[in-house]
Amino acid sequence: MQDPNCIFCKIVNGAIPSRKAYEDDDILAFHDIRPLAPVHLLLIPKEHRATMYDLTDDDAATMGRIMTLAARLARAEGATDGFRLIVNTGRVGLQEVQHVHVHVIGGPQSLGPMIPRKGN
Ligand code: AMP
Ligand code: ZN
Repeated sequence: MQDPNCIFCKIVNGAIPSRKAYEDDDILAFHDIRPLAPVHLLLIPKEHRATMYDLTDDDAATMGRIMTLAARLARAEGATDGFRLIVNTGRVGLQEVQHVHVHVIGGPQSLGPMIPRKGN
């Protein structure tokens, strides 16, 4: 299932170009257009799911494979000494693109704290 207005669905069907890092029947990985670190991939299910809230048990296999692929792709792209996975969700998570995506962010330098602590 695809959403005709979704930019990541358009990347899946080729209407919007992307720099692909991995693809199979269920999953696409591509380089983020505004990378936050030397390695910054987005791993997505090809089926449109707007947010993590929309996932069901039927998505468990694909989402699980995204988890196991993450380290493999991070290493292949050069993040050999660690990386971070981020899944921004909803308003509070500042999710900008409404198609579930796992950020894989890494590189030679430490990324710093996950979320800056206020007040100390
Ligand atoms: P989020 O805030 O988690 O929804 O992040 C959305 C991410 O998608 C951002 O890091 C954007 O830089 C990235 N992005 C948006 N459009 C594209 C695109 N056409 N190709 C690759 N990455 C994109
Ligand atoms: Zn979509």
